[in-house]
Amino acid sequence: METKAENKLHTPIVLQRDAHNVSRSNICEPALKVLYRLKKADFDAYLVGGGVRDLLLERNPKDFDIATNALPEEAGQLFRNSRLIGRRFRLVHVHFGKDIIEVATFRGHEEESEDDSAKDRHTRDGMLIRDNVFGTMEEDAWRRDFTINALYYNIQDFTIVDYTGGLEDLRNRLIRMIGDPTQRYREDPVRMLRAARFAGKLGFNIEPNTEAPIYELADRLTHVPPARLFEEVLKLFLGGHAVATYDLLRKYTLFDNLFPYTAALLNPEHPASDDVDALIRLGLANTDERIAQGKPVTPAFLFAIMLWRPMKNLAEQYIADGVRPLQAHQQAGADVIAQQVGFVSIPKRFSIQTREIWSLQPRLHNRSGKRAYRLLSLPRFRAGYDFLLLRAQSVEPDLLPLCDWWTEFQEVGDGSRAAMLKKVQGPRRRSRRPRKSR
Ligand code: ATP
Ligand code: MG
Repeated sequence: METKAENKLHTPIVLQRDAHNVSRSNICEPALKVLYRLKKADFDAYLVGGGVRDLLLERNPKDFDIATNALPEEAGQLFRNSRLIGRRFRLVHVHFGKDIIEVATFRGHEEESEDDSAKDRHTRDGMLIRDNVFGTMEEDAWRRDFTINALYYNIQDFTIVDYTGGLEDLRNRLIRMIGDPTQRYREDPVRMLRAARFAGKLGFNIEPNTEAPIYELADRLTHVPPARLFEEVLKLFLGGHAVATYDLLRKYTLFDNLFPYTAALLNPEHPASDDVDALIRLGLANTDERIAQGKPVTPAFLFAIMLWRPMKNLAEQYIADGVRPLQAHQQAGADVIAQQVGFVSIPKRFSIQTREIWSLQPRLHNRSGKRAYRLLSLPRFRAGYDFLLLRAQSVEPDLLPLCDWWTEFQEVGDGSRAAMLKKVQGPRRRSRRPRKSR
């Protein structure tokens, strides 16, 4: 279309190879192989997105994305170990053992004209639903989200190509939306989460015009499929910068649209809001620390943190209505998860574990007889114990002696364990009917 090309054809800034710090030695072997193979077949091939951004910032990229003028079928034919994927936009995944390199054909710019064919590409809220048009490299740059994500490393001559001002924004540590922020958030509300995520991860500011519409449009996240939001929530909170990201999500009211039941309790007017915040904050700080230490983290624990207090409150309500405590907690766990998945989906394999972590909380009090050994052998014991620690260290210091007991019980040998158990007062049992004497 004439209109879109007119204002988009700019001369890019090109940084020569000796004017930047991106070096092939920092690009993973599989990505280099894909770039060279495309180049050898006479296609254009660029590293793009987070890989280039992070290398320029001297950070370790999470993954390497590649953009090319080869069509998906053409790129696919170059690699035996490749698969065409995607419905909305076809991509090629090239597999190298565990590594997957994503190869995308340059994508055309989204059309903005008002004719019918353009309209049917949008849902009523302005969200983009069909987006499978190939384009030139310039168009590909302009349809990306933020300027710092639209930098290209050319495998042909090792230059960096910048159409949108990303290099300057990178120097000024700014997250700036390409194009009109309001329109681009409407097209894809997840871009608001991405703005917060990159600001949290990189410690950048969100440029004022990019920032301003977020407050107003935050509730459009409720139009995004919950399954996609699950993926985004993992990137937000399991990316090593969860605390900073949490602060930003709260500030922009994005959090309210991901975890509405938790957000309601975080409202300053709620009597327990400080406690709710303290547990989440410590939980996320621990998560960041574990990631920094290379320890594993699980979505199940993350959701246990986020939804603990809504679950607890609901359980207390059920108890007040006369439901037995254990059953009340079970039911509350199931109900809170069922409500939450209307916003952010939680695959069953994780929500089952989340509920196990919760249900261990009351059980960790009852240690008499063989119970302690039985608890210790449960697959979720360690997570349940970690969660008890989190509660104790954030808002329930009364639990600290119990935590210390379990810490010791795990560390000591069998002899000491038996001695520890002797000292434990068993839970009160209903007295059995006295035996009739014969
Ligand atoms: P990281 O991989 O470190 O999380 P990234 O910037 O590489 O960050 P990806 O999700 O891997 O993010 O996406 C790769 C690139 O694709 C982005 O840098 C951006 O250019 C483009 N992109 C991703 N999601 C969107 C979106 N919702 N709208 C527009 N462009 C996007
Ligand atoms: Mg990436």
